[in-house]
Amino acid sequence: MAKLYFRYGAMGSAKSLNLLAVAHNYQQQKKRVVLLKPHLDLRFGADTIRSRAGLSMEADHLLYPDTVFIYPGKQSVQGEHRVDFSNLEPLHCILVDEAQFLSPFVIEELQQLTIHCNVPVICYGLKTNFKGYLFEGSKRLLEIADTIEEIKTTCYFCNRKATQNGKFLNGTPVIDGPEIEMGAEERYLPVCKYCYLQKPL
Ligand SMILES: [Zn+2]
Repeated sequence: MAKLYFRYGAMGSAKSLNLLAVAHNYQQQKKRVVLLKPHLDLRFGADTIRSRAGLSMEADHLLYPDTVFIYPGKQSVQGEHRVDFSNLEPLHCILVDEAQFLSPFVIEELQQLTIHCNVPVICYGLKTNFKGYLFEGSKRLLEIADTIEEIKTTCYFCNRKATQNGKFLNGTPVIDGPEIEMGAEERYLPVCKYCYLQKPL
């Protein structure tokens, strides 16, 4: 049976690049993939899946916290946000970027697609926020994904494995405070636990 995958990694671990490579490989074999990402804002290019390496593809659908999926055998549902997978054209894989921002409801909907459509769903995302706590979507994925894989990268400051997402405000690391700080220059970097906590190695 098809699986729900969660491939997590720190900032800059090439998650989107990995997603785009998987999509490319399927498409080279003339197999159909669907690309999904959460609706986050209305910025220009909000529906683009973009890797820091410079590659990008357009997402087929944006997901809202209440998005429901339609598939063969599912009772018709009401709701403003729906994605229809009842098309009989074969679908080989569903790829999801920035899955940490999905609602638990949508994660469960993705699980239903693996069961009822027998299509693998591969979700890419961060595990924890800059405070070190699980994102809502990542929490649900860790709870119900069939396969959990880490995409590794190195700490920005040393050569250990990055396990945290460090937030830097005007160049200074912070591990608490509000999600958004007005008027400050924010930067997120992959860091190891020592550099995150600023402990001597
Ligand atoms: Zn480090």
